[in-house]
Amino acid sequence: MMPLISINPSIGKEIKSYPQFSEEKVNQIIIDSSKCQNHWKKTNLEFRLDCLKHLSEILNDKKREYASLMAEEMGKPLKQGKSEIEKCIFLCEYYVNNAALYLQDKIIDIEGQKSFVIIQPIGLILGVMPWNFPFWQVFRFSIPTLIAGNGALLKHASNVQGCGFAIESAFLDAGFPKNLFKNISISGSRVSSFIKNASISAVTITGSTPAGKSVAQVSGMELKKTVLELGGSDPYVILEDADIERSIQACIEGRILNTGQSCISAKRLIVVDSIYDNFLQGIKKSLMSKIMGDPNDDVDIGPMVSLEAREEVHEQVQKSIIQGATLLLGGFIPEIPGAFYPITLLSEVEPGMLAFDEEIFGPVFSIVRAKDENHAIKLANQTPFGLGAAVFTENISKGEEIARHRLNSGMCFVNDFVKSDPRLPFGGIRESGYGRELSIYGLMEFVNIKTVVINDKN
Ligand code: NAP
Repeated sequence: MMPLISINPSIGKEIKSYPQFSEEKVNQIIIDSSKCQNHWKKTNLEFRLDCLKHLSEILNDKKREYASLMAEEMGKPLKQGKSEIEKCIFLCEYYVNNAALYLQDKIIDIEGQKSFVIIQPIGLILGVMPWNFPFWQVFRFSIPTLIAGNGALLKHASNVQGCGFAIESAFLDAGFPKNLFKNISISGSRVSSFIKNASISAVTITGSTPAGKSVAQVSGMELKKTVLELGGSDPYVILEDADIERSIQACIEGRILNTGQSCISAKRLIVVDSIYDNFLQGIKKSLMSKIMGDPNDDVDIGPMVSLEAREEVHEQVQKSIIQGATLLLGGFIPEIPGAFYPITLLSEVEPGMLAFDEEIFGPVFSIVRAKDENHAIKLANQTPFGLGAAVFTENISKGEEIARHRLNSGMCFVNDFVKSDPRLPFGGIRESGYGRELSIYGLMEFVNIKTVVINDKN
């Protein structure tokens, strides 16, 4: 079996190679983790939340170390890495403050009989996670799951095994029992066989749509519940009455974070004709001041995750240009070491071009011209995905109406870029997947919502 290799994308050099775990080793981990979960589910919530408090302290103490690890393994700019860890801390605090309320029994009055609903864990949850937010994605799936009394196995992306093991150590140091959270070093192609293991109760995957379909197919045959957080091609609709400067800044923030490698990135900017030229001029000017460079410096974008990922994005850009898009910035491979790709601006993007039809996972701005509001919304919905969406207008009630009823997505923001927040459910529809993470809704995905009715009349 090929080892899993971490390559520093800034310099293209191998950092470390991780031997894959054998089948026997993974099966033993599953046995040990199941046993551990059996004890864990009987612990009281206070104890679980104490572990969680310690975990957030560890995150705070090691913020810089973890941010450096992310910069090294996948090229995330250091300051964004620190923000990612801060967000994980916020998530821990959110569940420390709210889990008791969400997990408490609920009495239901059904006339005469004692009846209530209790929330119970379902067992060991397998989380298949991507490299792009190597801490956040893992915390997002594992914290609510563990606090509800489940165990968690992490199959992290092959290139961020260092992050996977660092998270495992943090859980251990925080006082979580030894086998409750384990990182298993296996490649994506080996996931299916472990889903079939009877001790795996459910699976959650964050990744590409093809990987999600594969996981859903195998899990479906086993009747195991899945949550799928998959790709996206989020549309941002900019209407005639939008504050152009504000919408430009939101679109930029929503696109360059993580060097454009985010599922909820602003991937299609759909601008109505009457303000199109002003918007284009403004965004081009702002983008020209952005800095690409070493993720350890104060930069706006670092390298992409790998040379292969850069090649794929470059090909999508080149094909879109051949298909008729206009290149206004970037669009070339720089003659420097590493997987750097400059901020790229494409205008006159239309359906039928790759920049419209496919997800571009890199720092590429695709600007689409719409005749008017109705046309803009039609274009926004013209995608197989349905993760996030945004609309920009100074008419707030119109914005709310569009967000509520007209944009087809799991999340819709008015006058802001789409972001995740522990307090709000996160997830998509259609090819972006199903199920929700975060908030009370995420906590309820991997639990048995059990009805108990007691007829206490003789
Ligand atoms: P990916 O190739 O699908 O990898 C994600 C994870 O799935 C990795 O751990 C990978 O393992 C594993 N995997 C790959 N093929 C698999 C298979 N057939 N069966 C089971 N597991 C498999 O995705 P990526 O390219 O790293 O990440 C980018 C994609 O993720 C984008 O489409 C992005 O939009 C999406 N994403 C979605 C969200 C969301 O919340 N909706 C968040 C972040 C990213 P290996 O690394 O070993 O191949």
